[in-house]
This record gives sequence, C-alpha cells and structure tokens, in this order.
Amino acid sequence: MSGPAGGRATSIPLMGRDEEPTVFELSSTGRRAWSFRTTGVPEWPEDELVPAGHRRDEPVPLAEVSERDLVAHFTRLSHRQYSVDLGAYPLGSCTMKYNPKLCDDVAAMAGLANVHPAAPVATIQGWLELLVELGESLCAITGMHSATLQPPAGAAGELTGLLLMRAWHRDHGEDATRRRVIIPDSAHGTNPASVTLGGYEVTTVPSDDRGCVDVAALRERLDTDVAGIMLTNPNTLGLFEEDILEIARSVHEVGGLLYYDGANLNAILGVTRPGDMGFDIVHMNLHKTFAVPHGGGGPGAGPVAVSERLARYLPGPCPVRLADGTFGWHAPDRSIGRVHSWHGNALALARAASYIVANGGDGLQQVSEVAVLNANWLRHRLRGVYDVPFDRPNMHEVVFSATNLKKARGLRAVDVAKRLLEEGFHAPTVYFPLIVDEALMVEPTETESPETVAALADAMERIAQDSADAAHDAPRTTPVGRVDEARAARQLIPTFDARRSGGAD
Ligand SMILES: *Cc1c(COP(=O)(O)O)cnc(C)c1O
Repeated sequence: MSGPAGGRATSIPLMGRDEEPTVFELSSTGRRAWSFRTTGVPEWPEDELVPAGHRRDEPVPLAEVSERDLVAHFTRLSHRQYSVDLGAYPLGSCTMKYNPKLCDDVAAMAGLANVHPAAPVATIQGWLELLVELGESLCAITGMHSATLQPPAGAAGELTGLLLMRAWHRDHGEDATRRRVIIPDSAHGTNPASVTLGGYEVTTVPSDDRGCVDVAALRERLDTDVAGIMLTNPNTLGLFEEDILEIARSVHEVGGLLYYDGANLNAILGVTRPGDMGFDIVHMNLHKTFAVPHGGGGPGAGPVAVSERLARYLPGPCPVRLADGTFGWHAPDRSIGRVHSWHGNALALARAASYIVANGGDGLQQVSEVAVLNANWLRHRLRGVYDVPFDRPNMHEVVFSATNLKKARGLRAVDVAKRLLEEGFHAPTVYFPLIVDEALMVEPTETESPETVAALADAMERIAQDSADAAHDAPRTTPVGRVDEARAARQLIPTFDARRSGGAD
C-alpha cells in the first residue's frame, strides 16, 4: 500500500545533469511506503518485546516517503547507472560478464531461497546435494581433491588459504620458522594484504621482460623459511606463466606450498587446471567466473579447493555425500574452524552451480576459449594505436599502455577511461597492474559479441586520436562529470547531513 501521492511534482528527465535529491530530502512527515496489519494482532506488553533499557527515546530519523516516491527515486538512480545488463563492461581482472537470468531464476526457487539454514538435515537433502555437487565440480575444474564453500569473497578465500598453509606448517613443526610468502610484483593488491593478515611477511619477486615470474630471482628468494608462494596464472598481465611447472618444483623442493589466486579462472576452464600445474591451494571467485552478479559489494563466493594432503584442515563442517547415498555434514579432523556462518553465501553458490550445470564441461571450455579469443582479437586490433608492453598471445585480458599518447599529446589512461564512458562503455581497469605505466587493462569477456568488441575497439581508436582537451573534460554526457578522485578518496563524506544539504558537497 502506498501513502499519498508523491512530494516531488516534476517531470523527470532520465538522463542529464539534474541532481537527484537524497531520499531524506524527499521526506515529508507522515508519508509511508508500508502499512502494517492492524487487525488480529495479539496484544503484547512492550517490555516483553524489547526491554525498556534497550528502547530508543526518540524514533530513528528515517526518511518518510510514499511507496510511489520511493520507487521513482531508486528507478531514477538506476537509470543513471551503467551495468552489465546495459552493455560491455571491460573492467580487467574483474570479469564483469553478463549473468544469465536462468541463474537468478534458480536462486529464487522457493525450495532454495526460503530454507532456514538450521533446517534438519533430512529436510534439506536437495540443498546439500547441490552444495556437494558444486564442490565436486569445482574440484574437477581445478584438479583438486576437496573444497570449502564458506568464504564469501576472493580475499576471504585468500585468507582461508593462508590459514590452511599455516595449519599445514604448524602440524609439521615449522610455523615458527617458515615466515615468508612470495608474491610477484604484478599481483593483485589483496594478495599482500591477505599474507599480512595471515601472519606472514611478504617477499616480492620481480617479473622478467616477458611479463612472467623471473625464475632466477625466485630461486634466490627460496629457502626453508618460505611458507609458500601466491600466484595467479594467467597473471594480472593476462599472460600465462609458462615456467609454472619449474616454479612449482622449486617451491616444493624447499618445503613451501603453492597458492593459486583463481580470480583469473575464466581464462582456463576445461583447458588446464591449477592442480595439474602443481598448486596445493586454490581459491575461486565464483562471482567473476561463474556468473554471480558482483560489484558494489557482493554477495560473492570465494570457495577454496585443496590437494588431498590439505583436506583435513579445511573449514568445517563440509557438506558430504554419505555411504548410503544421502547427504550430511563432515567435520575435518584438523579443521582451521569456520570462516563464515552457516554454509557461506548460499544463494551465490546456487547461482554458480546452475551456471556450471547449464554450460556443462564443453560449454565451460567454450566460455574460456571465446574469452581468450575476444581479448587476443582486441590486442591485434589496437596494437599500433596503444602501446602493448608485452605483445605476445594473451589469455582472457590484455594490458595496453597509454604511454605513447601521454608522450605525444598529454593524454593519460584516466582520460581514455573517462572518454570511454561517453562512448557508451564502462571504463577498463586503469593503473593496474602497477608495473605497467599508464596501464589500461581490458577484459572483454566471452559474453560480448564480435560486433560489440569491434565497437569497443573503434571507440578506443577514436579516443586515441582525440584532442587532449576534449579528453581532459570527459565525461561530458553522463549524469556525473569528471570528479576529483583524490579529493573524493581523502575527504570521504559517507553520511548525509541535512544541515549541509544545498551546499557544494
Ligand atoms: C578480484 C580479484 C581478487 C579479490 O577478489 P574479491 O572477491 O574482490 O575479494 C583477488 N585477486 C585477483 C587477481 C582479482 O582479480
């Protein structure tokens, strides 16, 4: 039920630079977007519901708006947004592929969505079967032995993996002596952060002139105080680490473990497996590779799969297939303990499971093949327009550099990114990996058609020929223009203060 008709009697342009007021500015005392049932509600002494000491003296200052105004407000905001449902989103390393609606339908099924996590095992056999089969699929895809589905994000999977690494070394009496984890200088920022959070020290290994781990430099850093190495393969330059078997051998020789940052799994599905490369621990970003909507904070899923010797340390309890064919729970005997309540972000897991089943093994292989094809096509098409620091066959993403444009006309990667917004594309990742000057990391993904990838290339070509002045002012056609990013980061104002509204902030 909605309250009285809305408080903002204007015609609403869908685009343009009109400021959208906050929902608090739309507020008008007494308006409501809901109405509670008033008949047949049992009387209950207030003190029994919430003891007096825990009750507010004054109501929370919430916005008071009608349902009609509320829906209009958020719909207007949604029209000012760019999204994967709207168009190409080539944000490198993030794998912003289109997410099939089928996966949403599955996650919305009442039998999955409405189940209480504490429901008796006999009543949730279907859910448990889905989780067990998802774990088995992920092990088959990565070449590992068993998995935990609990971690809710890639970074959470990383921390889980490092705790597994520590549990292993502790059981071998070496937790005190193995203090270092090696990470390449091209690594994602979460890797060193997770290493530190996991109680280890970071040792950086440089990349060689081919953009891969410098194996000689790695050997110099390997000793019996190394707990392990964290790698993503293909690495963040989109390049396959061709020396991976030698790297694995060298790390294992000194008693270290190999951790695979599986955020880039979209490049290798059905083609190669971390387990076959010698990795011991793998996390996967289901929200990247397996079509769970992400960006804006989740909910994601970062399951961790391990080789057989590490299975007993996994967070528990794990859903398992029992000898009699039914499903239940199993607590690994040397478990590091829970890393998430209940079963992790269960509906993100249901989406990923449905994506895997719908594609099948051959479909998943095709996903990676087309993702790699699109990214290589783009490199060929734009080489000569942008610098390509490592101009050899890439995997699912390609890293360009705007250094040539900076030297010639003062055009920087950030200008290219902002101009792309005007061209109707989401910006690529910029200034990452850190080892590439003026980096533009482009990941077209497999869900974009050849026409769309060609249109993206056309747009990037036009931008490269732009006058620097036009690019410096971009974006000029979006609801919000060029923002002062340094100021936005340093003077963060995360709350709305009615007294300040109307000011420049
Ligand atoms: C996205 C990403 C991560 C972190 O994943 P989150 O789910 O965002 O925590 C780690 N490593 C790489 C290479 C990534 O691209």
